[in-house]
Amino acid sequence: MTGPELLVLWDIDNTLISARGFGKLMYREAFLTAFGRELNGPVDLGGRTELDVIAEILRQHGIEHTDEASQLLANALANSFESNRADLPGHSEVLPGALKALEHFADDPRVHQGVLTANLPSVARIKLEAFGLAHLVDWDVSAFGDDHADRAELVTFARERARHIRPFTDDEVVLIGDTPHDVHAAVTAGVRLVAVATGRSSGEDLRRAGATAVLDDLSDLGELIRQVWSDAAQGNRTA
Ligand SMILES: [Mg+2]
Repeated sequence: MTGPELLVLWDIDNTLISARGFGKLMYREAFLTAFGRELNGPVDLGGRTELDVIAEILRQHGIEHTDEASQLLANALANSFESNRADLPGHSEVLPGALKALEHFADDPRVHQGVLTANLPSVARIKLEAFGLAHLVDWDVSAFGDDHADRAELVTFARERARHIRPFTDDEVVLIGDTPHDVHAAVTAGVRLVAVATGRSSGEDLRRAGATAVLDDLSDLGELIRQVWSDAAQGNRTA
């Protein structure tokens, strides 16, 4: 194929779906299963990778951060999501415009879309399967919260996995996400970003973090398409 092609990498939580505290519930159940005691204190999940969140939880509870302890909690978390997957739709919703946006890009042969998410792979799948979205993304060009603790590093994983399609240039990789963590990942990795203010961060927060393309949500498909393709050749990086 001639001309630009894009690798579009979607954040999941508060970008495609809103899970309203379900993740925290699952963490509480998983921690109890893994360590036989209650999880104390708030869990701040927003935009942070699963490895990062797990490390903090272990530290907060005085549990030595070994690979075994981390894996124990990660496995328990995946099991919690699996056994409670039927409850997910009742606790969450697809955000406005997300389905149409995913369908549009899935139909465009110039676009290869995956997820770049803080979630574990199995949890990411459960979340998108719950809403019939899982078939619209290419799971083989995606990156997950157990690839690396630093979200910016996830971009490298996704690009490597997409190399069999082509070596996407910086301007051909577009993250879509809702938090300053997404912005930071794009800035650090040197790729483009379209921010959506559908999470806890306002458009102003996202701009302050360095986002130049900020949408209120995904409901204006035409505007989303413009931003995703914007200057794909010349570069329209985050500031
Ligand atoms: Mg998010």
